[in-house]
Amino acid sequence: MIIGVHPLAGFDKLLHYRVPENLRDAVAVGTLVRVPVVNALKLGIVGEIGAPKDFPVERLKLIAQVVYPFPALPPDLLGLARWMARYYACGLDSIIETMIPVAVRRGAGLKQEKLVSIALKLSPEDLATLDKRAPQQAKLYRFLEQQFRPQPKAVVIARLGLTAAVVSALAKRGVLREESRRIERIAYDDDHSAGELVAAMPHALNAEQQTAVSALATSIADNAFSVSLLHGVTGSGKTEVYLRAIDTALKAGGGVVFLVPEVALTPQTVARLRSRLEAIAQGQRCVVWHSHLSEGERLDGWLALATGEARVVVGARSAIFAPVQNLRLIVVDEEHEPAYKQDETPRYHGRDVAVMRAKLAGAVCLLGSATPSLESFTNVESGKYRLLQLTQRVDDRKLPFIDVVDMRIEAMKQRTLPSLSGKLVRAMHDRLERREQTILFINRRGYSSSMLCTKCGHVEECRHCSITMTYHRADEMLRCHLCGDQRDAPARCPKCGAPEIRWRGLGTQRVEETVRRMVPRARIERMDTDTMSKKNRFREVLASFRAGKIDVLIGTQMIGKGLDFPNVTLVGLIDADMSMHIPDFRANERTFQLLVQVAGRAGRGDRAGEVIVQTFTPQAEAIQFSRQADFAGFAASELKIRRDFNYPPYRHLIHHLFRGPNPEKLKFFAEQWAKLVEKTLGDRVELRGPSASPIEKIKDQYRWQLWYFTNAVTKVVPELARLREGFAWSDDITQVIDVDPVSLM
Ligand code: ADP
Ligand code: ZN
Repeated sequence: MIIGVHPLAGFDKLLHYRVPENLRDAVAVGTLVRVPVVNALKLGIVGEIGAPKDFPVERLKLIAQVVYPFPALPPDLLGLARWMARYYACGLDSIIETMIPVAVRRGAGLKQEKLVSIALKLSPEDLATLDKRAPQQAKLYRFLEQQFRPQPKAVVIARLGLTAAVVSALAKRGVLREESRRIERIAYDDDHSAGELVAAMPHALNAEQQTAVSALATSIADNAFSVSLLHGVTGSGKTEVYLRAIDTALKAGGGVVFLVPEVALTPQTVARLRSRLEAIAQGQRCVVWHSHLSEGERLDGWLALATGEARVVVGARSAIFAPVQNLRLIVVDEEHEPAYKQDETPRYHGRDVAVMRAKLAGAVCLLGSATPSLESFTNVESGKYRLLQLTQRVDDRKLPFIDVVDMRIEAMKQRTLPSLSGKLVRAMHDRLERREQTILFINRRGYSSSMLCTKCGHVEECRHCSITMTYHRADEMLRCHLCGDQRDAPARCPKCGAPEIRWRGLGTQRVEETVRRMVPRARIERMDTDTMSKKNRFREVLASFRAGKIDVLIGTQMIGKGLDFPNVTLVGLIDADMSMHIPDFRANERTFQLLVQVAGRAGRGDRAGEVIVQTFTPQAEAIQFSRQADFAGFAASELKIRRDFNYPPYRHLIHHLFRGPNPEKLKFFAEQWAKLVEKTLGDRVELRGPSASPIEKIKDQYRWQLWYFTNAVTKVVPELARLREGFAWSDDITQVIDVDPVSLM
């Protein structure tokens, strides 16, 4: 038997090996093996069985070891890895390494909690019959017969290359005994309140939910690839729809991946989801997957999925690579979240990869959001995705009233650039008296180097790109990050002539100080990445907020996700402009999403909520449409702009970053490269730049960048990768290609 192996660790090639007789049964496409490469043993994934014609097989080396005798990458994942390597212009090895956790690659100690042993001795006759009827079971029996003590189930399954079903079959007949030695390493164990019975389906669905659920059930029954976009206003009960769909997929014998943004994976939501999912899966384990797992936890979860012992995984971005067997459904909650994009190699987008994995596995992909990305929304319009809608909040709770405060007027009244308007301060006092709570959001997506006139709200934009110009302090210039256009920074507002032009930037700390001064009796807590560096601090603060020991919680978006505080009746957004005036064509979209999400935090209990949004540009469409949570209206107006400038979702955008210690040399190479691309791919790609990056230097490395707009990303990216190989780069220049970047800064 000959196999082709993709070695990991820097070998982006397929190498061929022979498989010794005794390992044949254990090897399939996707198996993790150890093979000799040059003079060392390397891990690799079996990429193909067989070899090309006329291949000199006699001279091939033998593989050294089979790490797990079941595929570490199910066929759909291997296909996905190959697609990603092409689409994102990176090595297959780096993708496979992302897909298979470190602990798994080490083949680390298969420490398992379930033990199996023989409970009933079979007579030789019975064993002979078993040999004929169920040879796998007989193999298992013979193996266990020779053991002195109970064996870990996963080890047995792995060693013999069986499925969990074989063990269960023998156990059912009473031949095997299964015992649990629970030394399971479950994340957030202490939150998994023991004994609390969770109803699998606690709510009767309303009509809209029912329609969505039925539509999904039909898709799942079809057993074919399809994508549905569930657009449901905040509080419309999307989670209930996800859970019913998951229930359907599990009942059909399928596996499920449920993705949520990492920030949403608070202990509270994890515990809740997990117990709901386990109730649905009827005692089956639900694997939790996120970046804070220990290696042991990750290995446990991975093994449970790879061996088919567990069929559901809930987790952040990288859970899309969990080795779920027989995948039937992928759910992506908050599909519009930028956090689904990984900002290091491989720079993949979890949602896009989810759609592709569903396609390769022939599964159903369900994307959900209150504010869908315009990418997904246009896919609905073009008929690629089906739209499911929840337009009502459950129990007909009203969407909160959004009050927009014009900070230009406030600035005049207070004769300074205030962080809190009079209205917001009064509303906070109000809540204090009524013993209700307030959340203040500070918009951290902000970028302090845009110019804003506090008199008229004017912000300087690039004439060619419709994005905010960035102020460069060193030479007093305004520059565009897309095309590199530049001009002198004005001393007065170019629109109204007022001298009050300045750059923006309100930190959480400054807001906290102001609140302490203005609402001195309130108990205040600030929550941002600076104060929350300790893992438990985050949970403590949320717990005491829930317990009513905090009146005002101040923080960035991280406190907005997936949390339900019934006693919060006031939500303030301190600075809505911050996300609007960043040099990014998605700035409006982000602002709209933020406002709708933030508003959804207020009045989730039985009390009505109030939302106060402070802004210097109250007329902005992102703000006006968000007042009615009018997604359709916003999408139509924003898509028109995107169409005019031919921006995503109408074309793909690719970012190419160059780094090096010498700015002149860097510029030279970037320009030479751009010329080459223009010459070779000019008919398929529109280039902008090269120009200096928004942050021109990091750690003594200068940065230049180039943007490509294209309709044909699957053709262009492999071409760029090929050109890049052949281009004579200087040794001290490194570069990174980012396909479909979500942040332009
Ligand atoms: P969304 O994700 O759409 O913002 P959630 O899924 O968080 O909304 O649901 C909001 C709340 O409504 C949750 O507490 C949920 O348990 C509850 N809920 C969902 N569906 C129903 C229903 N049909 N009847 C009553 N309550 C429901
Ligand atoms: Zn420009």
